[in-house]
Formats: sequence, C-alpha cells, structure tokens
Amino acid sequence: MTKTPLHTFYSPHHALHNPRGEFLHGRIVPYYEMPQRIEAIHHAITASPLFDLKYQESIIAPHLLHTIHDPDMITYLMTLGEQSQARIRADYTVYGLADQLTDDEYYYESIFHPPAHGKSGLHNPPKAYLSDSTCPIGKNTWRAILASASLAYDATQAVLNGEKRAYAVCRPPGHHAGRDFVGGYCYLNNAALAAENLRSRGKVAILDVDYHHGNGTQDIFYDNPDVLFISIHSDPIIDYPHTTGYADEIGVGAGVGTTINYPMPHGTDDETYLETLNRAIHAIHAFGAEALVVSLGFDTYINDPMGAFKLTKGVYTRMGRMIDNMNLPTVYIQEGGYAVDELGALAVAFFEGVVADG
Ligand SMILES: [Zn+2]
Repeated sequence: MTKTPLHTFYSPHHALHNPRGEFLHGRIVPYYEMPQRIEAIHHAITASPLFDLKYQESIIAPHLLHTIHDPDMITYLMTLGEQSQARIRADYTVYGLADQLTDDEYYYESIFHPPAHGKSGLHNPPKAYLSDSTCPIGKNTWRAILASASLAYDATQAVLNGEKRAYAVCRPPGHHAGRDFVGGYCYLNNAALAAENLRSRGKVAILDVDYHHGNGTQDIFYDNPDVLFISIHSDPIIDYPHTTGYADEIGVGAGVGTTINYPMPHGTDDETYLETLNRAIHAIHAFGAEALVVSLGFDTYINDPMGAFKLTKGVYTRMGRMIDNMNLPTVYIQEGGYAVDELGALAVAFFEGVVADG
C-alpha cells in the first residue's frame, strides 16, 4: 500500500556540464560531481513504481533568480560560458600552448571570492564570484545549471498546485552557492530558489541533510526570520566548507534563531544521526513551518568516497518516513552523493520511506 507516486522532475541537460577534472593539490583528479551520478538515479527511478517521472516543464522565472542571487552574478555566469573558449584560448596563446586545446574546455577562475577590490579609486576590477576551484565553466554549463534550477521550480510549482510532495533530480547541486558566490560544485542555489517560490505558502523550513554544510543556503537566508535553515553535516573543522556550519551560527538581525547547525563527527552512525534528525524535526515544528524544502544529499552513506559518516542503506528509508511524517508540503532537491554505483538504490530506499504508508 503506497501513496500516490512521487512527482519527480528530471532533465537530460545536466550532462551538458561535464568537466574533465578538478584540482587536488596540484594534480588533476576525476571530477567527482559527474553526470553518471544523476544517470544512476534516473535509471533507478525509471524502474521503480514509487516515482512518476516528468521532464523539465518550465524555465525558472528570472525574478526568482534575481531575488536569491546577485543579478550581476547571473549575468557573469551566462556571459562567462559564452566567452569561455575564447578566454581560455587567449590565456593558452600567451603560454604558447593553444595547440593543446579542444573546442570544449572549462574555464577555471584563478582569483577567488571574496576579491580584494582596488582601493585607489582609479581602478574598478571585475568582481570574482567563484569561491573555489570546483566550479569550472564550459560553453554549455549555463544550460545545465539553468535546467537544474528549473527542475527545482517545476517541483515547487507541482506542490503549489496541490501535490503533497515532489522531487527535483537536480544536477549541478546548489547548496554551496550563496547570494553572490558559487563553489563546491554549486552554481545556483536550487533549494533556496525552491524555498523562495514556496514563500507564498507561509513560513518555509529548509532541512539540509547533505554530508556538507549548506553554506550557500545559510548565506542567503541568514537574516531572514521567515525561512528556517537547519543543517546536519560533518564538522566543518575537518570538512568542506570549513568556514561555516558551526553550532554558534544562529542567524543575524531579525533572523536570529532561524539558522540551526548540527555539526557531527566522523564516524557518525545510524542511531546518532536519527537522534539529531529528530531534534531537527522538533525545531521545524516549533518554528511553525508551513512548507518544507529538503536538501537531499547521499554523501552521508557509509561507502561514499567523499564522506566519513557510517549511515547504512536502511536508515534512508527511516529518514524518509520521519521527514514525510511531518505532514508538510515538501519539495526534495537533490544535492550531493558520490557513491555512483549505489546512488540509485539509496534514492529508492529514501523515497520508499517518504511514499510508503505508515
Ligand atoms: Zn555534499
């Protein structure tokens, strides 16, 4: 006995963004945020009766993008993609290496946010928006990130139109993208865009269960009393993003009390995790949330190559059930998860808990 199959939004455009590698201490290693991640989830949900698979239906409204992100950053991401091949070729020409290039290279910024702005008054250097080296931009990157954000929009529209829950299979992920910075494989903050679109329902909570702290989402809503951001993640003293995600970060100004961080140690197991999730759920009820966005990462899994928690597959079903039992209109946004061969099974396990009765 199950509830209605889950409205699930997917776009093949994610594969247009496919960097060859990322920097790791001077070497190039495989780009962990790879298309195969989402293809694995797509394959599994296609085979499961839990999901009602739909393709991208809309393009996200520009006013939402400009409410959540610095409009100049949006322009930057669009134009950098268009200019990427010419810029790379110009740099390689200086080095005498242009003959090494293909027509499908990725632009890696060499100066990161926050920039040191010129203080002489005579210069106005361009602002840098990339906060680390994990967010290269190729000629089709904008199409992929716009599709990803549009899936978040489609899922929220489905909930605004009466669905109890919906799932956006987003790639690239979004929760490390802030108001005016991108980083950690994230360009546009899909969860923040979803929350903003749900604001017409009233107070919105964002529950971030990715292994990494959602620093971008926290940045966007840090002073906002109407959006609760609550995150369970690996202690940033040892894991990305390092600079935020500590328990004493609780919001600022009118937003004091609407940011809650639960940093967890390496080795966190199923029961410890569920106890913390239970605390988070109590906080969401206490806040009086009328809609929920879940930043859903599977890099908390024991076999994830990027994470050091020890969650087993079965716990995802329990998580899904606990979250759905809050009985809130809920949009699930795919974030991280890098155990490619098992991602599909993890997604099915989680949504069995969400969709199953009980
Ligand atoms: Zn993550």
